[in-house]
Amino acid sequence: MMLFKALRKSGLARCKFPFRFTSCVANQKYDYDLVVLGGGSGGLACAKEAVEYGVRVLCFDYVKPTPVGTKWGVGGTCVNVGCIPKKLMHQACLLGEAVHEAVAYGWNVNDQNIKPDWKKLVKSVQDHIKSVNWVTRVDLRDKKVEYVNSMGYFVDAHTIEYKTKRGERMQLTAEYVVVAVGGRPRYPSIPGATEYGITSDDIFSYEKEPGRTLVVGAGYVGLECACFLKGLGYDPTVMVRSIVLRGFDRQMSELLTAMMTERGIRFLSTTIPTAVERLPDGRLLVKYHNTVTETDESDVFDTVLWAIGRKGLTEDLNLEAAGVKTKNDKIAVDQTEATNVPHIYAVGDIIYGRPELTPVAILSGRLLARRLFAGSTQLMDYTDVATTVFTPLEYACVGMSEEMAIEKLGPENIEVFHGYYKPTEFFIPQKSVRHCYLKAVAEVSGDQKILGLHYMGPVAGEVIQGFAAALKSGLTVKTLLNTVGIHPTTAEEFTRLSITKRSGRDPTPASCCS
Ligand code: FAD
Ligand code: NDP
Repeated sequence: MMLFKALRKSGLARCKFPFRFTSCVANQKYDYDLVVLGGGSGGLACAKEAVEYGVRVLCFDYVKPTPVGTKWGVGGTCVNVGCIPKKLMHQACLLGEAVHEAVAYGWNVNDQNIKPDWKKLVKSVQDHIKSVNWVTRVDLRDKKVEYVNSMGYFVDAHTIEYKTKRGERMQLTAEYVVVAVGGRPRYPSIPGATEYGITSDDIFSYEKEPGRTLVVGAGYVGLECACFLKGLGYDPTVMVRSIVLRGFDRQMSELLTAMMTERGIRFLSTTIPTAVERLPDGRLLVKYHNTVTETDESDVFDTVLWAIGRKGLTEDLNLEAAGVKTKNDKIAVDQTEATNVPHIYAVGDIIYGRPELTPVAILSGRLLARRLFAGSTQLMDYTDVATTVFTPLEYACVGMSEEMAIEKLGPENIEVFHGYYKPTEFFIPQKSVRHCYLKAVAEVSGDQKILGLHYMGPVAGEVIQGFAAALKSGLTVKTLLNTVGIHPTTAEEFTRLSITKRSGRDPTPASCCS
């Protein structure tokens, strides 16, 4: 890799043979070595890595406005309508809590009714996003990735067409194409859904205060949005079709639900929406159906936010023209991220059956570029990807849930170490510690290899990130308990896990230092 970067600097890497691993004869036939469709986390990572090896790269990025007209700049979901604005809103909530805690710590905060200014928050968030958009464009220019702000679609397996700003149709050819078009929020097929509802694509730039909000869906997006709305002083209700956080550890999901309920977030269980109507005063009447009690009810909200999952953006790509097969609205790939058409690849959220997370998209895009243009053989490892749900007490995990471990190895082969804990900093403001809990799911025999780690508490993402590397390196319970903690932190609780579920002992601690 270093050799390629050095060659590029010297200009030698622009000479296609013998420095490139791909066929120089084939390459001469095409306008570009690589065209990337989609300038989000995965597409940009792939494009920027590829140019490091001296190849000619072009990246398309285009955002279709939402039904209420929201649109944004280059960088994809994470930067514009995902991780980044969400983390900023989450931080705004944590700061709101911190202001109240500060009083207990002796700060003289004169106005106890301190309130956030939604418009000001939205503006700050949007200003930051615009600065990231700008830096991204400059970075692409500096790195010599050609960027076209248009929707690209296939004409044949090597030809991409797009429209210029003046409406002219242009075509270009590429040796390799990487599809990194990501997804967009789904809307339910019920009356009023698109007319009156918004999604995560709109909320971070929503000019109107959200007010009383119905959040439909209990996945990552639904729970995170409900929590930041509550933290900012609004009144969210979460509508749950089946279970909260499908696919996650059940005990942790239930604990998360209890934590949110304690904070005043209402859950409407086993319920689906059936219609949304606008009332004369502008508020929204939502009709819904409880699938267990078989009853129909309705309620009035200021905002309805659909968080019912995301749909892959395959529709506009004209994939049939290239012969690329889809699976539902996604693209199935092999372990090299190749589609059924060998020179067409896919990375990020558009891949069928892979985690929809930014670091996954970035690493798979980068590794793909290295394999295509720098002779690497390293494949993306999609196992044991750590993740965090950014609720006020965050939940982070890596590896298997308790259920998954039991299913794979059998209950007799699993040992679960667990414990509640009391963060030192919670004592003075008397914050609830009821949901501060962690567990390690391990093999029962030998040094007890750890299969999964789960943590609910402050800065969960920061805590689990380091343990994720340890887990990928074969962490055992023996090693964990031989690790000296950093005191007084909450992460050190992992090094003090001594109670197994099997023992039936009480996992509640007596004090902070027991
Ligand atoms: P995207 O980032 O979606 O980029 C695809 C780009 O391609 C988009 O700009 C799209 O408009 C464009 N495009 C589509 N079709 C075409 C076309 N034909 N031609 C040109 N351009 C096209 N992940 C985390 O890891 N941590 C988080 O905290 C987190 N929070 C999230 C919060 C929310 C509310 C949401 C919705 C998602 C969150 N995610 C988070 C997920 C993360 O945003 C995605 O996994 C990630 O953005 C996927 O990257 P991607 O490159 O596959 O697609
Ligand atoms: P999810 O698929 O995680 O959740 C969708 C939710 O909507 C589920 O509760 C589902 O219920 C429900 N639902 C689906 N269809 C309907 C319907 N027709 N009516 C009512 N409810 C319905 O999608 P999200 O949009 O929350 O998140 C998408 C992805 O984005 C995540 O998988 C994650 O990878 C990524 N993300 C990551 C974040 C992070 O890292 N912190 C934050 C936000 C998003 P049911 O269980 O019954 O199907």
